[in-house]
Amino acid sequence: MPKTHLLRSKPPWREGLDFSICGRAAEKCARIIDPGDLDPAARAAAVRCAIWRKDEPPAGLCAVCCDRLRYSATWAADPVAVVAIDTDIYADCRGDALRTELRALAALVAAHPDEFRELLEGESVMLALAGSRSRR
Ligand SMILES: [Zn+2]
Repeated sequence: MPKTHLLRSKPPWREGLDFSICGRAAEKCARIIDPGDLDPAARAAAVRCAIWRKDEPPAGLCAVCCDRLRYSATWAADPVAVVAIDTDIYADCRGDALRTELRALAALVAAHPDEFRELLEGESVMLALAGSRSRR
């Protein structure tokens, strides 16, 4: 029976180029699911098997996807970690996509500088609020 792979996070603007956490193109995986769709027990078992190396991955899940799940970030949790995987030297097509996307984003910002500035200020306020909450 083919293993179920776990879908890797990607920038929210990107259409297509879906990959598993273990690096397979999604269209070449017989079955692939979003890690967020794992039930909490299966997610905990997947992380546990990677950390302790003595447990088997949950039934039917790809061992390599499970092994790397703890390093896998969501866009909401850490956009830098999501984009960083595209800068990996082995990620040729994703690196090309990221270069094109960053140029397009820069052009978008140049065309709408005031909106960009407002969004940055909004993010800064949110980060400051989050920081003040965590320091309490
Ligand atoms: Zn996999």
